[in-house]
Amino acid sequence: MSDNPEFDLFVIGGGSGGLAAAQRAADYGARAAVAELGALGGTCVNVGCVPKKLMWNAAGIAQAIADAPGYGFSVGLEGHDWGALKKRRDAYIERLNGIYAGNLDKRDVTLLRGRASFDAEGGVEVDGRSYVAKHVIIATGGRPIVPDIEGAELGITSDEFFALDARPARVLVVGSGYVAVEIGGVFRALGSEVTIAVRHDGVLRDFDPMLRETLMDQMRRDGIGIETGAVPAAVCRKDDGLELLTVDGRRFGGFDALLWAVGRLPNVAELGLERVGVRTDEFGFIPVDEWQATNVEGIHAIGDVTGRVALTPVAIAAGRRLADRLFGGMKDRRLDYDCIPTVIFSHPPIGTVGLSEPEAHALHGDALRVFEGRFTPMYHALTEHKVPAAVKLITVGDDERIVGCHVIGHGADEMLQGFAVAIRMGATKRDFDDTVAIHPTTAEELVTLRGPRS
Ligand code: FAD
Ligand code: NDP
Repeated sequence: MSDNPEFDLFVIGGGSGGLAAAQRAADYGARAAVAELGALGGTCVNVGCVPKKLMWNAAGIAQAIADAPGYGFSVGLEGHDWGALKKRRDAYIERLNGIYAGNLDKRDVTLLRGRASFDAEGGVEVDGRSYVAKHVIIATGGRPIVPDIEGAELGITSDEFFALDARPARVLVVGSGYVAVEIGGVFRALGSEVTIAVRHDGVLRDFDPMLRETLMDQMRRDGIGIETGAVPAAVCRKDDGLELLTVDGRRFGGFDALLWAVGRLPNVAELGLERVGVRTDEFGFIPVDEWQATNVEGIHAIGDVTGRVALTPVAIAAGRRLADRLFGGMKDRRLDYDCIPTVIFSHPPIGTVGLSEPEAHALHGDALRVFEGRFTPMYHALTEHKVPAAVKLITVGDDERIVGCHVIGHGADEMLQGFAVAIRMGATKRDFDDTVAIHPTTAEELVTLRGPRS
């Protein structure tokens, strides 16, 4: 690279991680640039967390209307205008795009609109012009996977879900992770018939069994069909709608929409990584060390493109800490990827931090003690439709240090952040027991658990 770079930092990708890194660097006085080929804010703002949360809110309102008669209200769900919701949602996101541009402007971060790629000299080219920078951060995120099978193009992904102008009446969701349960749940709550086809025995296989079993029970009770052992082989269009053929010869048909929710791959294809020698793994993810450094000096990677914990706050935290280290003089600053809390916006929502019981067992064997509880929240005392809640604490050793905390139930999404702080600080079961409960809440169950389970 040149001895006289025009930027201290060049960030490829103006999503969660890229914007956070560039802005933090500029706050320290660094000359920073961001290249973005699409809408500012990346996946989270445009086709991820933000529009998803708004749709989840809409689903929650539908459920609250259904529950309202139990509390004496004479209301009924007379209809829902999906198109009107989409319009308001899109307008909100457009406002956010503008705010993000303004935030860059305020800090004098140069925004280059277009696709960026490395040139042979180690510079970054955007729209036919090359730029030289002391440090480059690759923050190009990922995109949904569409399986390589016949007829796959008849399905949509989460990207196109957010473009739907009307709600399809009959939906097949293929996949078993976050997107499958979240979007499947939204469709169902807003009135669609929903079937989820999973390859193995259920959804959320990597999560604690209590969470997945409670969620699957509730999904079935809410009328969502879950088809197990369904490995996709082909999709075709029949007179009555789309049909999925599975490897074992079963056919699931009659759908107006099929949603692929089978994971994501990194955006690396046109970056020209080979020109600078940045290594990728077999799926294209860019491996980084604990300092977010790739194998090439001066080139870093953050967020989804690294293949590590694909969550917005993780991309943001990695970007900010990297900028703190490179430009803020904090030489030891880096992201600790342990104990990252996460919420699944299912119905009911899930909040989880730390190890699942099988993970804890594999790591700590018999040193585990598990405390759990299951109940129906008081909200449902007066409603027809009852939704359960369940909580679990997993502890290790005689001091019962908490290594896993799992909650499913109304409010779990807002509840977990505070518990995550305590667990990160090394809280023990005794600390939870010594904390006075807040009554009447679902959260209090976590500080009143008896046990351990035998
Ligand atoms: P992105 O936000 O994807 O940004 C990458 C940016 O790089 C994009 O804007 C892209 O256009 C740009 N780009 C790519 N290649 C180039 C190039 N060559 N030149 C210029 N620009 C380029 N996470 C949560 O924490 N909570 C949630 O509730 C949540 N919900 C989600 C719901 C859905 C449906 C999905 C799909 C994801 C969700 N996520 C959620 C995950 C979250 O969106 C991602 O983890 C996060 O956006 C990753 O940030 P990033 O900066 O790594 O990449
Ligand atoms: P996930 O990785 O969460 O889940 C996809 C699952 O689909 C796989 O785990 C796999 O499960 C199954 N699968 C994979 N390939 C196939 C196939 N060919 N056919 C059938 N099933 C298949 O991916 P998502 O797309 O749901 O989400 C991507 C990431 O985005 C998440 O991991 C999360 O990090 C982030 N996200 C976060 C959200 C949040 O914070 N609330 C919301 C949405 C996304 P199995 O092996 O069991 O079959």
